[in-house]
Amino acid sequence: MDGLSGWLWRYRGRVFLGFLALLVVDGAGMVVPLVVRGVIDRLTLGESGVLEGGLTILGLAIVVMVFRFLWRYFFIGTARRIERDLRATLYDHFLTLSPSFYNEHKTGDLMAHATNDLDAVSRACGFGVLTLADPLFMIPVALGIMLSIDPRLTLYAIVPLPALTVFILGFGRVIHHRFEAVQASFSMVMEKVRENVAGIRVVKSYVQETGTEGDFERSNQDLVDRNMALVRVWGLFHPLITLVSGTCLAIILWIGGRAVIVGSISLGDFVAFNQYLSLLIWPMIAVGQAVNILQRGRASLQRINRLLAEKAEVVEPSAPRRPAGTRLELCELTFRYPGKDGQRPALSGINLTIEAGETLGVTGLTGSGKSTLARLIPRIFDPPPGSIRLAGVDVRDLSLSAYRRLVGYVPQDPFLFSATIGENIAFGDPEAGPEAIEEAARQAGIHDEIAAFPEGYETRVGERGVSLSGGQKQRLAIARALLLDPKILIFDDPLSAVDAEREEFILGNLRSFFRGRTVLLIAHRISTVMHADRIIVLDHGRIAESGQHEELLAAQGVYHRLWRLQQAEQQVNEW
Ligand code: ADP
Ligand code: MG
Repeated sequence: MDGLSGWLWRYRGRVFLGFLALLVVDGAGMVVPLVVRGVIDRLTLGESGVLEGGLTILGLAIVVMVFRFLWRYFFIGTARRIERDLRATLYDHFLTLSPSFYNEHKTGDLMAHATNDLDAVSRACGFGVLTLADPLFMIPVALGIMLSIDPRLTLYAIVPLPALTVFILGFGRVIHHRFEAVQASFSMVMEKVRENVAGIRVVKSYVQETGTEGDFERSNQDLVDRNMALVRVWGLFHPLITLVSGTCLAIILWIGGRAVIVGSISLGDFVAFNQYLSLLIWPMIAVGQAVNILQRGRASLQRINRLLAEKAEVVEPSAPRRPAGTRLELCELTFRYPGKDGQRPALSGINLTIEAGETLGVTGLTGSGKSTLARLIPRIFDPPPGSIRLAGVDVRDLSLSAYRRLVGYVPQDPFLFSATIGENIAFGDPEAGPEAIEEAARQAGIHDEIAAFPEGYETRVGERGVSLSGGQKQRLAIARALLLDPKILIFDDPLSAVDAEREEFILGNLRSFFRGRTVLLIAHRISTVMHADRIIVLDHGRIAESGQHEELLAAQGVYHRLWRLQQAEQQVNEW
């Protein structure tokens, strides 16, 4: 079902109608030379019949016109439908895949699959099938009629034709390779433009306009060179076809002309013969083209199918259980990111309990594993079986959607969609009313700033909207999580971009929200976590210390050192 033919079979009704239309068009086209032959033969006998002949040809032309429309309609229409289905399947599939998949695939490559490969499949299902079906009918019928007129002449005339098919096949490969080279070069130029426009401030402040210009010049020249390589082969295409068809024609004029003179065929036969020959040239080219288009489409579909075969890592358990409680236990939690097998684990041997209603602070140097811990709890990446339990149940046995509704997770680098501020806050619950949205924004300490925008909550963010500061984005992300009233909160350095004074105010707000919820509050800055019920310090993926602020200071360890450093930094800043 997942090959090209499988997809065509899905739309077999339309494909069948397309074939019928094709038969009518080709059939009508095949009759025309016969009509012409009749007219000419009657003319040579001194009879009339020009008017009937002319009217017949006009009638046939109208039939061809109508059915040509239908054939395109059915074939190209089917191709577009298959493209739509495949695109929807691919998009849905992208949504099911886990972050570990996106950890290993470049966005650019995925975009290429979603555009170029889909396009190639669509071309194969439409033009590919069409250009293959056409010759399959045309060639035998035209040959049959030609043979019935004069077998010997037919043989002479068609000798050069297969060369055409072979030539197109080889030619198509060369064109394809050169075309891919042009595409690659073009992406390179586009990437350079994008990079330099996006990084224009850096380019200017480092006065690197000249260097950037030279770099671009080279890419641009490369694109021209590759395009010229393509032009050179394309330039040969039509002249060579003309040469082959000219040769066929010369043979017919010579041998056929003599046959007319000696009277073995009529003048009408001769003219009809010529017309059939020219009718044959296109299908001979088409076979070669069809094979190329279909091969490319098949290769693209295989690439897409490989993507579709990727399985989500994080999956719903076969017998999902309801979460009952909010006490989190981490037992001997050791975790390596997928594809990092040889390396030191990001977390090792973590044993930890976060009681229901407790606020646990987590701190540590950059790279110590804080964000990894935050990602494992809501199963953004899957923890090893049994290593994280909620109220005694392995989180991998819980209903994924129910569990995630219970957990509010604010990632370190929150993502805002190109939508209004209100819509961004209500992302998890699009039904939320304005009061609920405003309340969440107040708790996250961002309401006043939103209200100060001329359009308030209707202000658009993203590429075409206002650009928010890092701290504003973080607080929007917090509001987004709070709105859903989660019983467990995972905050991954949510105030890192907010200044210390405002942080105190926001934390004051949040503390009342934290009451009665299980909270994991991660921060590099100790001032964020110092009031937590308990604090752990991560170091190289292990728990180095744990306790309350005063205890940890008294222990004179990592925590103490971090605290001293940050105090000193703050004093320097206050100066
Ligand atoms: P922190 O949040 O404390 O700065 P992280 O949890 O981000 O630390 O990183 C812990 C370790 O895991 C680091 O060595 C980092 O390079 C690695 N790491 C973090 N994120 C990923 C990822 N998405 N893929 C692979 N390795 C990662
Ligand atoms: Mg981090």
